[in-house]
Amino acid sequence: MQDTSHFRAWAEVDTDAMIHNLNIVRRVMPNHSRMAIVKAEAYGHGLEGVVKALDNEDIRFFGVATVSEATRIQAAGCHTCPFILGPCFPAEREVIVQNGWRAALCGLEEALHYNSLGKLYNKKVNLHINVDTGMGRAGFLPHDMPGLGDKLRQFEWLNIEGVYSHLSAASQDISFTHKQIRAYEAAVRELTISLDLPYRHLCSSAAVFNYKAPGTNMVRLGRIMYGYSPMPSPYNKELRNTLTLYSRVTLLRELPDNHGVSYDHTYITHGPTKVATIGIGFGDGYLHYLSNTGARVYLNGEYCPILGRITMDQIMVDVSHMEGVQPGDVAEIMGPHVPWSELTDRAKTIPSNIITSISSRVPRVYKP
Ligand SMILES: *Cc1c(COP(=O)(O)O)cnc(C)c1O
Repeated sequence: MQDTSHFRAWAEVDTDAMIHNLNIVRRVMPNHSRMAIVKAEAYGHGLEGVVKALDNEDIRFFGVATVSEATRIQAAGCHTCPFILGPCFPAEREVIVQNGWRAALCGLEEALHYNSLGKLYNKKVNLHINVDTGMGRAGFLPHDMPGLGDKLRQFEWLNIEGVYSHLSAASQDISFTHKQIRAYEAAVRELTISLDLPYRHLCSSAAVFNYKAPGTNMVRLGRIMYGYSPMPSPYNKELRNTLTLYSRVTLLRELPDNHGVSYDHTYITHGPTKVATIGIGFGDGYLHYLSNTGARVYLNGEYCPILGRITMDQIMVDVSHMEGVQPGDVAEIMGPHVPWSELTDRAKTIPSNIITSISSRVPRVYKP
């Protein structure tokens, strides 16, 4: 593994744990193929490092949000095809067609444009119909379904390869989720009158272990692959942590009684206090919202509370209860001892927000 001895802060990424997590889903749903979602730097794990590790893991597509992410996957030498989940501007469609990437189809104008690009490049364009069954973000609406398959069949350069939708509240609203599943299945029935649709996908992490969607044959895996399940399930305890954020003690100091710590003195010492300064802050993605929430780091086998506000590059923690802390000692900021779920609750946000916030200043180190 890369030498980390000169890093102030780094994220250790365990791609074997990711593969382990994928394999749980593979075991539970042996008849579904998998799309691995790697948008937003593979949820903060680093795009290139992750896609190279997953390229031979029987994954059908790499799900991304943008054409630039797809370009990076191709440049990394991967043979797994990128799938662009988000809407693409007209000027971005050419490179999708030229490279044979997969994209969402959200309207008939798009179909017309893709068809003409297919003709221009003499290449069939592989698209998946996006149906908005309730997310309210993108796609055709269920009332567009009647006759849509026949219309799309007219475009000779399009290969309508799949149909998908996205659940908006799978971990919160079971009855609405069942409605979405039924709406999706009705759309599939309607479209398969005139189209083949070999790929049918609806469920992502919040749904894979908790809902049956019999009309589907592929799942899209983001959070679960990264070790976080949004829903209680018997499989959750098998999931492994995939990212541990570390930082080092940079200074060790003794502050007197009644001394303010950090901006605006939201913390004041009561009694002489041993304070360790640690080289990570909100500039590295350790959210400022975690200030004064009881957030803590794990250092030399003990938890140490953060004192006062998180600054851009540094935090101060109380080590009065510890002996022998030295500059250079490594603190776990986030990981097996400080799970995302803990930080999520403290910062009043969602886990994906915590990990996608880890900034580009933080080197990603891949476990061998
Ligand atoms: C981001 C995204 C996913 C992945 O969601 P997870 O809950 O992280 O598994 C799946 N599908 C679509 C369309 C997405 O945008």
